[in-house]
Amino acid sequence: MKEVLQDASREELARLIQEAGEKPFRARQVYEGLMHGQPLSALPVPAALRAFFAARFEEEPVRIEQVFTAKDGTRKFLFALADGNLIEGVLMQYDYGNTQCVSTQVGCRMGCKFCASTLGGLVRNLTAGEILGQIVAVNRFLRGGLRDRRAVTNVVLMGSGEPFDNYENVVRFLRNITDAEGIGISARNISLSTCGLADKMRRFAGEGIPLNLTVSLHAVTDEERARTMPVAKAFSIADILSACAYYFERTGRRYLFEYSLIAGENADLAHADALAALLRGRPCHVNLIRLNAVKERSLLAADERMAQAFLQRLKERGISATLRRSMGADIGGACGQLRASYLEKNRK
Ligand code: SAH
Repeated sequence: MKEVLQDASREELARLIQEAGEKPFRARQVYEGLMHGQPLSALPVPAALRAFFAARFEEEPVRIEQVFTAKDGTRKFLFALADGNLIEGVLMQYDYGNTQCVSTQVGCRMGCKFCASTLGGLVRNLTAGEILGQIVAVNRFLRGGLRDRRAVTNVVLMGSGEPFDNYENVVRFLRNITDAEGIGISARNISLSTCGLADKMRRFAGEGIPLNLTVSLHAVTDEERARTMPVAKAFSIADILSACAYYFERTGRRYLFEYSLIAGENADLAHADALAALLRGRPCHVNLIRLNAVKERSLLAADERMAQAFLQRLKERGISATLRRSMGADIGGACGQLRASYLEKNRK
């Protein structure tokens, strides 16, 4: 693979254009063109500059391969990367705007037992520009522009991959997407979900990017957590809670927990009580979701009634919590399902 021009920050791009012997105003044209999702050969610049780019950089690092639209309007995108790898993303429409869920890796090596993204292990990290490219491609697909005319208004790093297992590229992506001269999505409108790499959570607290930090908890004791999340052997719930407290101290942002309700595993009222005891008094919010059953996995979702009872119990115990409705279930909305089914189909 060639290099990815979209990895560059605005300043780096300006320097590159200077190196190429072009006038400074070209930097702005190139930057805006890239942020509008134009392939390199379509940039409105002199042919010599296009040739300079073509020799070194990928023409179009992220291309929309397929689009699926669910009954509820949720759209799922299958993206092709320049090396032929596939990744997926989801766009959810809410009253306040459109939230895009992006992938940070091809595959994942965290091994969570309920997740389809990790079935084939980690293939490779995405570059910063490949993460950005997913948003730029969808924005363009929906005919959105920059800043005030964006079609994608919110971003969640909850697609395939563990963002903190690809730390440098993810931070670079976050700096680029929040650049007010470019796409300019504010950190407040970005959520990053981690399986709880507590060392990286602490490091991230010092980056000056006050986004919504979300931790996939899914259990109330380390033993139970280790049954579905191998990462629990590396970082305890106590480590995670202390890293969360540090994040709050440094950024002033409250943090969130994801808790997927799995029948017979973590969804009894006793679990709700234990979760409430663990989180009481902490500046946090709990997002409950019923497990999205993945066919390669044997785990089952808690039913709607259990989920409601779990939610009520948390609230009675003074915990801020919501039960999120599952969106796009009819199009394989859960992590990694689309890529997994596509790979399977094309293998046959
Ligand atoms: N690696 C990161 C982000 C990707 S997953 C993380 O672990 O947080 C985004 C969220 O979806 C995580 O909370 C993950 O645990 C959850 N998830 C994965 N598969 C799921 C499934 N089949 N049903 C419900 N939630 C799932």
